[in-house]
Amino acid sequence: MELQSDFGERTINELLLMFRSRQINLEPGFQRQSVWSQVDRRRLIQSVISNYPIPSIFLYRRHVKGRLVYDVIDGKQRLETLFMFVGAGRFKRDAYLLTVQGDTDSAANRQRRAEILRGLLYSLFERKDAKRTFSSEQRRIIWNKDEKKICVRCKKKLRWDDFTADHILAYAKGGSTEVTNAQLLCRRCNSKKGAR
Ligand SMILES: [Zn+2]
Repeated sequence: MELQSDFGERTINELLLMFRSRQINLEPGFQRQSVWSQVDRRRLIQSVISNYPIPSIFLYRRHVKGRLVYDVIDGKQRLETLFMFVGAGRFKRDAYLLTVQGDTDSAANRQRRAEILRGLLYSLFERKDAKRTFSSEQRRIIWNKDEKKICVRCKKKLRWDDFTADHILAYAKGGSTEVTNAQLLCRRCNSKKGAR
């Protein structure tokens, strides 16, 4: 049998979907039993969030009773860390929380930060459609990560049900629809801005 190889990019969401539909085998017989420390896991998540490149993952594709299964040849710890981070499958929420917690944080703070980070992770690896409006998931992240929650123009205190997510660099000028290019505006200021 000839061994064929192909190279491609997968988003974390795609890998997650494959894992959830039981297509990824993290435990092929030949895997080493090495386990990453929490520090290793934290570093990987930080790299993802900072948009740093991540080393390639090698999978071996085979057919099992008409289904595709991918054995993880290299990248088990990386994949596990990502699945842990989003609390997928058998990876418990607790295990994942450990990867982002600081010792001095309250549980509520950890929880909140974990949600923000998880949202960031998703949004970074969503397919980058040329979309103009922020998704509801992005809006949630933009809202959560903003400390002041006031309109950047008129400084009015905003509420969850009346804020708008505005492009810092306008979409029309090439600004991306990503949480890093978003600011909070009240409806009034947003419509005034749009009218210019
Ligand atoms: Zn305003």
